[in-house]
Amino acid sequence: MQKVKLMNQSSSTSESTLTVLVTGANRGLGLEFCRQYVAAGYRVIATCRQPQKATELTELSERSSLAIMALDVTDSQAINRLGEQLQDQPIDILLNNAGIYGSQGQVIGNCHAEPWLNTFLVNSVAPMLITTALLPSLKLAKQPKVGFVTSKMGSIADNTSGGSYIYRSSKAALNAVIKSLAIDFADVVSMVALHPGWVRTDMGGPNGLIDVEESIAGMRKVIDNLSTADSGQFIDYKGVTVPW
Ligand code: NAP
Repeated sequence: MQKVKLMNQSSSTSESTLTVLVTGANRGLGLEFCRQYVAAGYRVIATCRQPQKATELTELSERSSLAIMALDVTDSQAINRLGEQLQDQPIDILLNNAGIYGSQGQVIGNCHAEPWLNTFLVNSVAPMLITTALLPSLKLAKQPKVGFVTSKMGSIADNTSGGSYIYRSSKAALNAVIKSLAIDFADVVSMVALHPGWVRTDMGGPNGLIDVEESIAGMRKVIDNLSTADSGQFIDYKGVTVPW
């Protein structure tokens, strides 16, 4: 794991500055989370697989207190190292954002074990491992919050069109993880399952209904309003509850 810029190298941040850590921060929703939290005055730790190729993040880091750290979320040793490296620094908001759709054409007869299991690793297993590895940092914050970027496609109740077996099942599994974490850490860390909307990103494609700016602004508002009392909910970027 390569640390590109240390958090304490910035002179423009103070003790009271809140810290947010974002996974999958180099493009799409993750990059926009970073842009908006930087603009709002947060200290941002942006993690991504290949910092040397993260041109937009690097530009952002050059004019802000954003620090880039390498993290492939499928690497459990790297996750543990990240937790150890940050254990003395409070993290106020953790955003488990990195995700994949899995293979294309997830129809009957075309869902294979290898891409399916890899999708589970990225979408369902990694957010749990990252959250537990970062618990010492979360516990140092005054009002720690974890936002899990899941999807309405992981909702069993909302599934009226079938298909997308790999993606749907991986996000449904993530939803079960979020619910248990919210129960196990009630009154300690607030957890929220976030549906970003159908967003125009590489994953969402050009026909998405909203742009990243609108999605992230909405999810930030949901996170701002989150308290331990409403931990464990499934909420979309408009603040509307999504059925499980
Ligand atoms: P995206 O544009 O495809 O970006 C995905 C991000 O995840 C990239 O930064 C990617 O990094 C990262 N990532 C993938 N595998 C990783 C790994 N093993 N380790 C670290 N990072 C990894 O997708 P997006 O639309 O921004 O999606 C972000 C989240 O929103 C995902 O969890 C997705 O399921 C969820 N979501 C999106 C939509 C939508 O309409 N866009 C709707 C519902 C939910 P690389 O560049 O290295 O691949």
